[in-house]
Amino acid sequence: MEKTDEQWRAELTPEQYRILRQKGTERAFTGEYDHTFDPGTYRCAGCGAELFGSDTKYDSGCGWPAFYAPADEAAVEEHRDLSHGMLRTEVLCASCGGHLGHVFPDGPHPTGQRYCINSAALRHEADD
Ligand code: FE
Repeated sequence: MEKTDEQWRAELTPEQYRILRQKGTERAFTGEYDHTFDPGTYRCAGCGAELFGSDTKYDSGCGWPAFYAPADEAAVEEHRDLSHGMLRTEVLCASCGGHLGHVFPDGPHPTGQRYCINSAALRHEADD
């Protein structure tokens, strides 16, 4: 999916734009989904692609929504991120390239991965 910067700016809220298109980060413990565990699907706030399921969401205490796995391996892309003097792994939506957050190797069983994702990059869709 290719959209111009102008289109993204028009479609997204300023906070969504800052995170998804400018690789921003929402303040810890402020996001809409940090402490919600309602069943359902988490879609990309930019393009609607299915990214995570509520069955993999857990309370990591880190201040952002955490999942131990994406809904599908092909749903996200992972890139090496050397910004801010750290070596981290950035997580992006594979469909629109939007920045979602980072993944760290300190997650729970069964993957050991912690996908630390900005609430503003997600849209929760409740199960029917
Ligand atoms: Fe997307």
